[in-house]
Amino acid sequence: MILLGIESTAHTASVGVVDESTRVLGLSSDMYRPPTGGIHPREAANHHVESLPGLVRAAMEEAGVRPNEVSAVAFAQGPGLGPCLRAGATVARTLALLWGRPLVPVNHCVAHIEIARALSGLEDPMLLYASGGNTQVIVYGAGRYRVLGETLDIGVGNFLDKLWIALGGSFPGGPAIEAEALRGTQLLTLPYAVHGMDVTFSGMLTAALALHRAGASRADLAYSVEVTAYSMLTEITERALAHRHRAEVVLGGGVACNERLRGMVRSMVEARGGVYFAPPRKLCVDNGAMVAWTGLLAHRAGVSIEVERSAVNPRQRTDQVPADWRQSSDGHPHRATSDARTRGDRAPP
Ligand code: AMP
Ligand code: MG
Repeated sequence: MILLGIESTAHTASVGVVDESTRVLGLSSDMYRPPTGGIHPREAANHHVESLPGLVRAAMEEAGVRPNEVSAVAFAQGPGLGPCLRAGATVARTLALLWGRPLVPVNHCVAHIEIARALSGLEDPMLLYASGGNTQVIVYGAGRYRVLGETLDIGVGNFLDKLWIALGGSFPGGPAIEAEALRGTQLLTLPYAVHGMDVTFSGMLTAALALHRAGASRADLAYSVEVTAYSMLTEITERALAHRHRAEVVLGGGVACNERLRGMVRSMVEARGGVYFAPPRKLCVDNGAMVAWTGLLAHRAGVSIEVERSAVNPRQRTDQVPADWRQSSDGHPHRATSDARTRGDRAPP
């Protein structure tokens, strides 16, 4: 079985082609980079409309796959920016009608966890999903992916982007802050905003800008912001692990490309005797392969949607969509490779 998947929730238009053994046969992506400031949804959508046809062709060519070999067409239905989502959905509907194939809706956040889960070989890991618009700690329970903790204001990537742009840089801020942070020497005090298993970032943004006005260097700010924000994410992930008696963590989202975040989560997990996995960077950022893969799982479980009912949902929540393909694991003990995993399976959903 071969699936084609389309991702267009925010800045990245991407098309992936995968097969049943999670092989990425083709992946073609193009990121919208605003000339100044943050992402304007309409302009990003225009970018996606222009780039998606070429990306479909490139991904299919790289995969060496003909349309009649594609079993279904998947698209990211939400969450995301409305105009951007509609651009991808329109292309997916067109291909599904043209090729006479089922259309499969996919939740973008669930796609991040499914690709990480498949590549890790772990059956039931927890996901720290850290991206531009989303920051969540996610775990599966009773038919759905459940959000155990999340940002109560902006996503961590959004926070880094806003800060970097305010400091005179350009989008995306995360990688630039990572480079700048290597030159930082002084750890400045910033608001450490953990509320149970939730976090907030807007207070840190205000405080960092105030420190900048008071003369703090970009390098020290970048360093301090990384240490503080990633400590917060590591702490809520650890708390979620402890509460759910879990030991396995996978990372997803663009911010999961960050070496410091990877290192911090890895040492926390390893100190607990657990297993840590982060996908390669091109599959951490938004990409069509994760949508194709999750579409494949859903399609195999009988999920499809009629074109007439396939409206996008910019506010679709991770826990709003059933994970039908995981149902078979409900009520059955997972393959237990560690005590922690067995205990986790017995914890209430
Ligand atoms: P996504 O929405 O998952 O594609 O992720 C995009 C976000 O990831 C943007 O906010 C970027 O600034 C951020 N990002 C990408 N690479 C890095 C990095 N190396 N360190 C921190 N943030 C990053
Ligand atoms: Mg994402």
